[in-house]
Amino acid sequence: MRIGVPREVSPDQRLVAATPLTVQQLIKLGYDVAIETGAGLGANIPDTAYSDVGAAITGKDEAWASDIVITVDQPDATHRALLADGATLITRMQPDDEPDVVTELQARGVTALNLLSVPRISRAQALDVLSTMSNVSGYRGIIEAAEEYPGMFAGQVTAAGSTKPARVFVIGAGVAGLAALGAAGSLGADVHAYDVRADAAEQIESMGATFVRIDTEAQESADGYAKELTDDQAAATARVYAEQSALADIVVTTALIRGKAPITITKEMVEAMRPGSVIVDLAAQGGGNCELTVPGEKIVTANGVTILGYTDLPGRMPKHTSQLYGTNIVNLMKLLTPGKDGALVLDLDDVILRGITVTHDGEIYWPPPPIQVS
Ligand code: NAD
Repeated sequence: MRIGVPREVSPDQRLVAATPLTVQQLIKLGYDVAIETGAGLGANIPDTAYSDVGAAITGKDEAWASDIVITVDQPDATHRALLADGATLITRMQPDDEPDVVTELQARGVTALNLLSVPRISRAQALDVLSTMSNVSGYRGIIEAAEEYPGMFAGQVTAAGSTKPARVFVIGAGVAGLAALGAAGSLGADVHAYDVRADAAEQIESMGATFVRIDTEAQESADGYAKELTDDQAAATARVYAEQSALADIVVTTALIRGKAPITITKEMVEAMRPGSVIVDLAAQGGGNCELTVPGEKIVTANGVTILGYTDLPGRMPKHTSQLYGTNIVNLMKLLTPGKDGALVLDLDDVILRGITVTHDGEIYWPPPPIQVS
C-alpha cells in the first residue's frame, strides 16, 4: 500500500506529517511513500532529503490519491475530494464540532482515524500527538517568555553586583507544564508550580521545582483527567494564584479540563502583577486560563504585563515537532501493520484503534465508548 504525504493545506502550517527519518521507518513496515513536492519546505526539509531515503516525489493529486493519507491538519472539502473512495485518512480531527465531515467521509467509505482521540493509557503514549504538541508548547512558551521578559532568567553574581533569578510560577503540571518548568529551570529560573492532580507534587519536585501547597483535596478522575473544582476549592486556589502571580516574573498557565480552559488568572490578578512581568497562556487554544488572553495574540496591559496567547507554538519549532509527530504516526502504523507487510489492518477490538476510529467501511464509529480504567 502507498502512504501519501501531501503539502499541508494552510500556508501557515509549517509542520509536515513525515520526515526523512520517519519515511525510512514507514518503508521498513512495507509501505511505499509518496511525498507531494514541497511538503517538507515549512520544516526546512527539501524534496531530495525524502527521495534520498526512497520516497517518490509526486504531484498533489497523486499524493492525495494514495491508499493512506497522513496530514497534520484535517483537510478542507476541496482536498478531501481528492481522496480515493475507501482510502484511509490519518489526521487531527474535531468530529464533535464537524458532524458533516464525518457523514461525508462515511459516505465515501473513507476510514478516518483521529489522532486527537488517542486514549490516555500508558500503551498509547508513543502515539499521542497531543502530548507531542504540549511538550513542544511548554518548551517554546518559556523561550517566548524569555524573549519578552526584560531581565535574565538565571541569577547573576558579578563584580558589578548580583541579581536574583526570575521567579516562574506554572499552573498545571501536565505534559506542557512539566516541559515549561523543565525549560525554565534549565535557564536558571526559580520555579514554583501547582496542579490539582494528586501525583503532581512528586512530578514537580522531581524536576527540581517547588510545589506550591494549597490546602484543598486533589481533583482527578479515574482516567487521569483533572475534574472541575468545587466552589470552596476554586476560592482556595484563587487566593494562592493571586499571591503567587503577584510575586512572579513569569506566569505559565496550562490548566485544562478535558480540553476546556478554566479561568485561573483573573483581570484583578493581572492588575496586581509587576510591570515587565509576562504571562504565557498555553491554554489559549481552549479559550485561555487568563481572563485577558487574546488567543493567537500578544498584548501588553495598561500596567505593563505582557500576555502571550500564541496558539502556534509547535509550528514555531517545525523541525523537531514534525520529527516527533511523524514518529507518533510511525508508532500508530506499527500497530496497524501487524505483518510488517505494508498492509493496513484495523483491529477494532484494540482499545487504541477503536478510540481513534471515526468512520470505517461506510459506518460511523464516533464517539468511541468510554475507556474502562482498572
Ligand atoms: P491536560 O492538558 O488535560 O491539562 C493540563 C494540566 O492542568 C493537568 O495536569 C491538569 O491536572 C491541570 N489542571 C486542570 N485544572 C487546573 C486548575 N484549576 N489548577 C491547576 N491545574 C489544573 O493534561 P495533560 O498534559 O494531558 O496531562 C495530565 C496527566 O495525564 C499527566 O500526568 C500526563 O502525564 C498524563 N498523560 C498520560 C498520557 C498517556 O498515558 N497516554 C497521555 C497524555 C497525558
